[in-house]
Formats: sequence, structure tokens, C-alpha cells
Amino acid sequence: MSGQKVLVLCLAVTAVVLLAAVAFTTPWRPLPDVPGGATAPDAARDFSAAEIARGRALAEQARPPVYLAMALSLAVTLLLGLTPLGARLVTAVARPFGGGWVWQVLLGGLALLVVGRLVALPFDARLEVVRRRHGLSVQTWPGWWLDLAKGFAMSSGLLLAVLVAFFALLRHWPRAAWPIAAGAGALLVVAISFLYPLLVEPAFNKFHPMPDGPLRTSLMQLAEKDGVPVEDVLVADASRRTTALNAYVSGFGSTRRIVVYDTTVQTATAREIELITAHELGHAKRNDVLHGTLIGAAGLAAGVCAAGLLVTWQPLLRRAGADSAADPRALALLMAVVAVVATLSGPAQMLISRRLETRADVHALDLTRDPEGMIAMQRRLALANRSNLTPNPVLHVLFGSHPATVDRIALARDWARLHGEPVPASPRP
Ligand SMILES: [Zn+2]
Repeated sequence: MSGQKVLVLCLAVTAVVLLAAVAFTTPWRPLPDVPGGATAPDAARDFSAAEIARGRALAEQARPPVYLAMALSLAVTLLLGLTPLGARLVTAVARPFGGGWVWQVLLGGLALLVVGRLVALPFDARLEVVRRRHGLSVQTWPGWWLDLAKGFAMSSGLLLAVLVAFFALLRHWPRAAWPIAAGAGALLVVAISFLYPLLVEPAFNKFHPMPDGPLRTSLMQLAEKDGVPVEDVLVADASRRTTALNAYVSGFGSTRRIVVYDTTVQTATAREIELITAHELGHAKRNDVLHGTLIGAAGLAAGVCAAGLLVTWQPLLRRAGADSAADPRALALLMAVVAVVATLSGPAQMLISRRLETRADVHALDLTRDPEGMIAMQRRLALANRSNLTPNPVLHVLFGSHPATVDRIALARDWARLHGEPVPASPRP
């Protein structure tokens, strides 16, 4: 079988697995239709004009750095990958070390990653300034730089190790390398997601079990009522960076954990923390992290095969100044193709994420039967996090990981109507 045919077959098989995984694990309709039509989202019903303006001001100031960083990083990656510039950079940095392929992959890859990071850096710093101005970030610049360095060291260290292994594979088995890499990459995604709470999270935050007391007792009772085995609720020291409120579930199997930010514990009411936890229990009960990981693994495998088709295409290789995909001078082209595939798949990932988040909200409502408390909790989160209550619909569809606050509040009212409960009035003081 020709290399091209192997890749087409690889892409077809992985794409079918990916689509099946997405179709069967995504809750497309987390709440049944409400007789009389769904509640219309309306920010003005639950938030004052000043509260809406505050969220909008932050969003408007954060938008340029966020999207410019994205666009410029992609443009530079494409410039390096679709012209001989990337290939020149790869050979130049490896030359002082003899120019062998391992040095080309390691140092060339590092140089490309550093360039990508540097391009985005001024915009990231600008975003940090905006977040500080709005009281959302309380981090110092040394702390910010340390976070940045740790994140870059971890991600680029892993990526470079993967690239060296991948190019070794490509040099020995140019045809079989892509399907093997697709399979190995999928396994790696599962391993990273499993180990994330043990290896990555502790590098950025300290975690301690929620101290004994009425709050911990009520949360453990909630988990027991839900039938979700939870050994502990962990509290993260997020307050060293931010005033934002949050909670999340990470890991799966023996590494699964529910984490609440200390900011949440310090400022939200006990009832609000219960509702936040009920949402997280929804993620835990439905194994959202595991399913997301499996979709990510299938997506990565399909992405590797798609990248293989593009990177082995002669016109692109010629453009990039490389002889073959196994030539480390094709590294910048590979990174450009990966960046394009990742960018294009982003909105689909966000669509799935929003559905999972909506299902976790429905779960919290089913478990607590407290739509009024749910709305109070959403209000608390939105105000503390300076959320944009009137997000741009196009940007929200493309980049929103969670449903908008107004949609989540409308969902709580729909849940009340569906279950014959009194529809909560506006919580506005
Ligand atoms: Zn969630």
C-alpha cells in the first residue's frame, strides 16, 4: 500500500471513531423542550445596567490582546511553515552542534516554540494588565513570569520529547510512522489526562482537603445522595493569583478529584458552594473528563493522520524547503499544519464543552431542586468573575467553553417550569 493510501485509511478510520465518540457521548439536548417555548435569555432581568457595563468593559479591553495573540501566533507559524524560513531556522540553530537530525528536531523545535511564545508574549502581558485593572488578577509580575516559564517548560519539554520519538519513527518506517504515531499519541493523551492532577496541577497550586466542618459535611452528604464516591473535596490556593471564583473536576479513575478555589470558599455562601459542587458532581457522575479525554485522543489520532497527508504532500514540502516529512527541516511545516488543524477543531470542541456544561447544570438542578439558589450562584460567579453578560454571539459560538451566564440562568427558569416549581423572580437587589 502506498504511503498516501495508508494515510487516507488512517484518517478515515480515526475520523469515524471520533465522530462516533462525539455523537454518542455528547448530550445534545440536556433539558427536554419546555412547553410554551424556552425562556428568553435577558441580562437586564437579573443584572443592573452598571453590572452589565462592568462585564462588558473588561471584555472589550481583553478582546484585542486575546484575539491579536491568537491571530499573530497563527500567522507567524504559517509564515515559518509555508516558506523556507522555518527550515532555515531549524538548520541554523542545530549547526553549532554538528547539525545532526536529533539536534535539528530538539533545538529547531525549541526555536520554533520560543518564537511562537515570544510573538504572543506582549499580548499576554497586556491581558494581565487588563485583568489587574479590573481587580481580577492579584498576581505579581515575578509570579506571572514564573507561571509562564513553568507552563512553557512543561509543554515544550513534553512536545520536544514526542517530536524526537516521532522523527526517529519517521526515519525508520516512513509509511507506518503516521498510524503508529496516531495510536501512540492517543494513548499519550489518555495518560496525560490521567496524570494531570498529580504532575501538572501541583506545579501551579497547593491543594488541601476541605477542613472538617458543616460545609464539608454538607458537600459529602450531597455527593452521597448523588451516588458519586468522593473521598475529599480539595481546596486550591487560587487566591494567590486571582479573585475569580471557580471549581472543577480533573483526572479520572483513581486520580479523579473535585477542586474548589479558596476564593469560592471564602466569598460564596454555603448554599452557593453546594450548588457549585452539585454542578461538579454532574461532571464526575457522567465521567465527563474521561469522555472528553477519549474524544481528545480520537481527535488527536485523526489530526495526526490529517497532518500526515498534508506534510507528505510534495508541493507543501517544496514550499517549506524540505526533502521529505522525515527531514527535520519539515518541522515548521508540521507545526503549521498542526496549528491549522487545532484552530479549525477549536469551535467543535467548544460546542461539545458547552453541552457538557449545560448537562452538569441540569444535574445540579435535579440534585438540589433549587433553581432560585442556582440563579443566585450564577449571579455570584458572573459578578465575581466580571463575566461579559452580553457576549458577542459569534465569538461566543467560536470560543465559549461554557454557556453564557444569561443562558444558564434561563436554563434554571426552564427547569423550574418543566418541574412545576415556582419560576424564580429576579434576584436583583
Ligand atoms: Zn462545569
